[in-house]
Amino acid sequence: MDDDLNSKPNLNLARKLARQLLSDSHITSAPVLLRNVAKYVPDLSIEGKEFEDEISGLQISYKGKYYICYNASHPVKRNRFTVAHEIAHIMLGHTTSCRKNNLGSKDPAEAEADQFAAELIMPLSVLKTAISTTKNVKDLASLFWVSKEAMSWRIIETKLFNKLNSWG
Ligand SMILES: [Zn+2]
Repeated sequence: MDDDLNSKPNLNLARKLARQLLSDSHITSAPVLLRNVAKYVPDLSIEGKEFEDEISGLQISYKGKYYICYNASHPVKRNRFTVAHEIAHIMLGHTTSCRKNNLGSKDPAEAEADQFAAELIMPLSVLKTAISTTKNVKDLASLFWVSKEAMSWRIIETKLFNKLNSWG
């Protein structure tokens, strides 16, 4: 099927839904703890599993309940992004299976899920405040409890890099 008409990701919707979930969860500061967020996603269970290394995580729905499984062998910071990304697929109503590989995916559903995940664990308003005093990627990544890779990508896509003193 030619899906050109649907090939543009709706990043605004992804951000809006992430902000709504943060608001529902009463979260206004970093780090965003996903167990506090997940309570506001109805019928959701999250657990670590043994997977092959190339699988970060997945989400399935079964009998009206949602299950997110993440790769228990992967680093915690990576799993935080994975879980946020899988929550996005649930909240955005994506029905196809996750084809995530790298940040900045061209697949519309994956791009939307990455945008939702980024806004959920690195909320723009919180990041803007933090970057006014914390001016390097390493410390920002620690503050938000995310990988340096995820924080670098977030700073590039939000065009906040002119606020940094250092990419280290
Ligand atoms: Zn995905």
